[in-house]
Amino acid sequence: MKLKEKVAIVTGASSGIGRAVALRFGQEGASVVVNGFTHMADAEAVAAQIRQMGRRAIAVKADVSRLADIDALVATTLGEFGRVDILVNNAGIMHLRSVLEMTEELWDQTMDINLKGHFFCAQKVIPHMIKQGKGRIINLGSIFGETGVPNACAYGVTKIGIHGMTRMMAVELAPHRITVNAIAPGNVVTPLNDPLYALVGGQQVLAKSYPIGRLGRVEDIAPAAVYFASEEADFITGAILFVDGGYAAQ
Ligand code: NAD
Repeated sequence: MKLKEKVAIVTGASSGIGRAVALRFGQEGASVVVNGFTHMADAEAVAAQIRQMGRRAIAVKADVSRLADIDALVATTLGEFGRVDILVNNAGIMHLRSVLEMTEELWDQTMDINLKGHFFCAQKVIPHMIKQGKGRIINLGSIFGETGVPNACAYGVTKIGIHGMTRMMAVELAPHRITVNAIAPGNVVTPLNDPLYALVGGQQVLAKSYPIGRLGRVEDIAPAAVYFASEEADFITGAILFVDGGYAAQ
């Protein structure tokens, strides 16, 4: 087990990639805080599944775009487990809009959840990681943090921001032995992408743009999070790891 006795917070863990990461962390021996927001019953089910593995897990409701909620999320984690070793900044949304159709409201919501949320979740756990002498922050970036695509400008801007934030924080926090890395997935089949599949004419159409010939699965992403969280990745910080079937290499 690679994460024995570690305590991890995974944001947006009621579905998709966050759910897979939370479950995999449980398999690797971690105690897991399963953050949910709109789908708390699903978050509770993920926590229950981890407990069935013989690990500790709780579901905690928090909107990562609200600082008071983040404070409560971290306080609950410390109250329950006494420490926090790993933060996976996973919560995210995507509104597909052309540049001309994007509204101020959807722009702000995208920035608040995808970018501000990642920044302040990190800010709130860092003091505890400094006290503990080390820590791991893992951000969810995207291939759209490095490549262009129509109708996802606001989302892409947040992912470009996350890649930059990963490098900035990595350098600033390295003296404290806190590593900050990002996973940049290609298209992974989750509810986030349902509007995209509708727009492009289905998953099969999109899969053709992937050299490996298929879209990603949540199980493709979770091992990358385990690796960054593990002792084996102690000398890796500021890295953006593409898990994308070769998409960004084209
Ligand atoms: P998803 O919709 O299944 O998961 C997103 C999660 O974030 C959900 O559980 C949702 O409830 C949560 N969330 C949304 N707003 C929140 C808020 N304000 N506070 C707390 N939680 C909130 O989608 P996913 O594909 O699993 O996405 C997870 C992450 O991976 C996102 O950051 C996404 O941008 C990134 N990503 C996904 C893909 C992909 O193709 N699926 C590709 C690259 C990056």
